Amino acid sequence: MKQPMPDKQLQLKSLPGVDHILTLAETDDRFIRVPRSLVLESVRRAIDDIRTQILEHRPLVVSDEAIIKQAALLAARKMKNRLGPLINATGVVLHTNLGRAVLCREALDNIVAVSSSYSNLELNLSTGKRGIRYEAIEALICELTGAQAAMAVNNNAGAVLLALNTLAQGRQVIVSRGELVEIGGAFRVPDVMIKSGCILKEVGTTNRTHPHDYTHAITEETGLLLKVHTSNYKIEGFTTSVSLKDVVGIGKSHGIPVMEDLGSGTLIDLSAFGLPSEPPVSEQVASGADVVTFSGDKLLGGPQAGIIVGTKQCLDQIRANPLTRALRIDKMTLAGLEATLKLYRDTRVAVEKIPTLKMLTLPYEQICQDAEVLLSLVTEAVGDRAELALADMTSRPGGGSCPGLTLPTRCLTIRPETMSVTSLDKQLRAFDPPVMGRIENNCFIIDPRTLQPGQNKILANILKKLMN
Ligand SMILES: *Cc1c(COP(=O)(O)O)cnc(C)c1O
Repeated sequence: MKQPMPDKQLQLKSLPGVDHILTLAETDDRFIRVPRSLVLESVRRAIDDIRTQILEHRPLVVSDEAIIKQAALLAARKMKNRLGPLINATGVVLHTNLGRAVLCREALDNIVAVSSSYSNLELNLSTGKRGIRYEAIEALICELTGAQAAMAVNNNAGAVLLALNTLAQGRQVIVSRGELVEIGGAFRVPDVMIKSGCILKEVGTTNRTHPHDYTHAITEETGLLLKVHTSNYKIEGFTTSVSLKDVVGIGKSHGIPVMEDLGSGTLIDLSAFGLPSEPPVSEQVASGADVVTFSGDKLLGGPQAGIIVGTKQCLDQIRANPLTRALRIDKMTLAGLEATLKLYRDTRVAVEKIPTLKMLTLPYEQICQDAEVLLSLVTEAVGDRAELALADMTSRPGGGSCPGLTLPTRCLTIRPETMSVTSLDKQLRAFDPPVMGRIENNCFIIDPRTLQPGQNKILANILKKLMN
């Protein structure tokens, strides 16, 4: 190790002690809400940082203020939540990395009401005895889907695992090769099958599966016929698949239950709003499937959950499975889910109040108006420090819903004059609140579709700060 130069020695000697800085920090406004242990840690680290800088021969002034300032910065960083809100300018309505569905006001209010007090989570108020947690939502889901019975677990992946394990553990589950889906990362149908204790029996080919593929594969070992919604891809060209209705027919004639993993699952017919028709859950239930599962935080627009609907017999079996307890939904989710589901009693109210549906069904004319407003706010904010324009582009629903669908939108394109577009993108992500957009043709793109009310002004202010 190299010996420090003598002037370094002097500087090192002049470093104040931890106790001295701690005493100063005690009366410093920058540490008002910082716990003592964190003040101590930050002061130690700040002194260490400065010691390293001295040893590395970097020019610096050693002063109490310099150390306190550094400690305050370190403490502030630790005091900030890791998880926090951000501005989604990507136009992807259900972005899994950005927390999927934005909850409606009604859900948020109910979550606060239920969780800031005791509740009747598992209490039957008329008997005073223990009640069933799922009762908060069962009747409502049945009313909205036409199912005999319903419940909800942690998420749809959990719902699929639980349903497979309950209905077909140790037995074969027949699935079309065209439906062996992987939903980003760890959810792959063949793997979930193994974890649920079922044996995957693939039938048909990637592009074509016929009714006889199912019937030929049925043996004594068959426990379930499974359909999986191809959420995030589309097989096009020379293709055939067997409809849920026909698979149900095959199941019934062999006495084998039929389940569908619907993935996103919508409760309303979105084609009425110009979106392609995704079969609503009620239609799948009406085709006679024994069990249908879908997510709470995809097209439904509620909190993360896996909703299971089906026959009373199957749901009773599922409820009795010990895995149900491991996957059970908590009171906050139930509160949010019940409030969201209630809005579905009136389709127009649902589309107005549930942010996911509102953003997906936003008319192009409305987006054009929003884009104009955004353009004028940003023009005022950044002046000639960026080249601004509006451009017709497309937004995506995302989150494994409506595969292949794009929605016409009008975006603000920003070509900064004073920095590179990648630097702007990076600084926007580092801002508080962070802004997530995308880069195309050397421009930063802001899609107004996914901006929440009031965020256009916040965004203009952020751009003003970054570009000045
Ligand atoms: C999204 C999806 C899942 C997983 O649902 P989560 O709610 O994210 O657990 C499972 N199956 C399909 C077909 C999906 O689209």
